[in-house]
Amino acid sequence: MQQRIKKSEEEWKKDLTPEQYRVLRKKETEAPFSGKLYPKKEKGIYTCAGCGQELFASESKFDSGTGWPSFGATIAEDRIQLLPDESYSMPRTEVICSRCGGHLGHVFEEGPSPTGKRYCINSVALKFKPATGKEKKQK
Ligand code: FE
Repeated sequence: MQQRIKKSEEEWKKDLTPEQYRVLRKKETEAPFSGKLYPKKEKGIYTCAGCGQELFASESKFDSGTGWPSFGATIAEDRIQLLPDESYSMPRTEVICSRCGGHLGHVFEEGPSPTGKRYCINSVALKFKPATGKEKKQK
């Protein structure tokens, strides 16, 4: 899939906070329980902090106890890309934004039904758009 947003390192540094840059562009992981979206329970949409693409709906968010925002599913499979991650000699599956290539987190096969997946996403890689009550239904 073609990533539609390409920026130079300098542009990303300018457009992101230092913490967002470290996670989204350098694939670092925020400290658990540090993110302000971790405990959030309001209705709304979680978007990519790098490009604004809508990634996760509050309906799929659950309290995993891990310290990172956790979701059972994405809004649509084409919003993300999955990449094998062998770092720390611990095979994992990395989750990136399909639009800007930003590192979001990892996905684990340990989530609740119906998907059985847990998308473990850095809070700093996301922004939250509260529901207004006027949303159109997602197709
Ligand atoms: Fe993005």
